Amino acid sequence: RAKEDGRGTYRFFETGMDARAQARRLLELDLRAALQRGEFEVYYQPIRDVAKDVVVGFEALVRWNHSLRGMISPANFIPLAEETGLIVPIGDWVLRRACIDAAQWSQDVGVAVNLSPVQFKNPNLVSTVKEALKASGLPAHRLELEITESVLLQNSEATLSVLHELRAFGVRISLDDFGTGYSSLSYLRSFPFDKIKIDRSFVTELATRDDSMAIVRAVTGLGKSLGIVTTAEGVETDAQFDLLRQEGCTQAQGYLFSPPRPAAEVETMLLKPRARVVA
Ligand code: C2E
Ligand code: MG
Ligand code: MG
Ligand code: MG
Repeated sequence: RAKEDGRGTYRFFETGMDARAQARRLLELDLRAALQRGEFEVYYQPIRDVAKDVVVGFEALVRWNHSLRGMISPANFIPLAEETGLIVPIGDWVLRRACIDAAQWSQDVGVAVNLSPVQFKNPNLVSTVKEALKASGLPAHRLELEITESVLLQNSEATLSVLHELRAFGVRISLDDFGTGYSSLSYLRSFPFDKIKIDRSFVTELATRDDSMAIVRAVTGLGKSLGIVTTAEGVETDAQFDLLRQEGCTQAQGYLFSPPRPAAEVETMLLKPRARVVA
């Protein structure tokens, strides 16, 4: 009986794997064709200065408008793009697109582009960034590159020299999703980051959990002492925003202000005042 169950389970598992592997293979073929087909689009989400309550920049977030499946979220294709190396051409495209778009905005606000750890294995990363700036005419100081700590885990000597080179060129470097992953404070000593982005998971529970509040307070305090801008991710409520303002968090980003929207809506987002006047 046990044996039968075992075999049944085994067969089911194998069949499942086949279907999954096939679906993955199909998605990979689609992903390879997607750039040529022009199926990617960059959406922009505003980032607000908390004290001044104005938009100071936008984060560029890629979207895949699949011909049959509709919009596919990055969570569902970035991992595959990283495994296959396709994140390199896709990431290059996002970077160039974001620089071209930002250079045309009516205000000199920043644009933040996410970089995958895999893009750091490409020896052309620095020249790709310089090319994107040159081709668009965007001044380097308006470009922010967001990396996660996982970037610093791999081959950190080579990675650090790339980051230093980019920063020397005037590009700003942000530490994304801070507080998740390994979150060793030594990362903050290994590179002079311009910005720490406090992960949404802490912001979400800001008003309801004392420990999340304590963590956010500690990180904004750390930012102040180190002279690093802090940005809260995933701000959805006025209560969260008020607490962030109290704590002296520098910037806020989230659905409370706007979800990521197509490039054509950037000017509207720049003009839009907050719905609620804060005291
Ligand atoms: P991320 O860089 O941490 O980006 C923030 C994510 O949080 C975005 O999800 C954004 O839409 C979402 N978000 C913002 N405000 C709120 C909020 O108030 N509530 C909630 N629930 N979510 C909010 P998105 O666009 O789905 O991107 C997910 C992740 O995919 C990004 O996380 C980033 O790691 C990756 N990604 C997106 N675009 C790119 C890209 O061009 N290159 C690379 N390498 N990764 C990218
Ligand atoms: Mg990001
Ligand atoms: Mg993030
Ligand atoms: Mg994130």
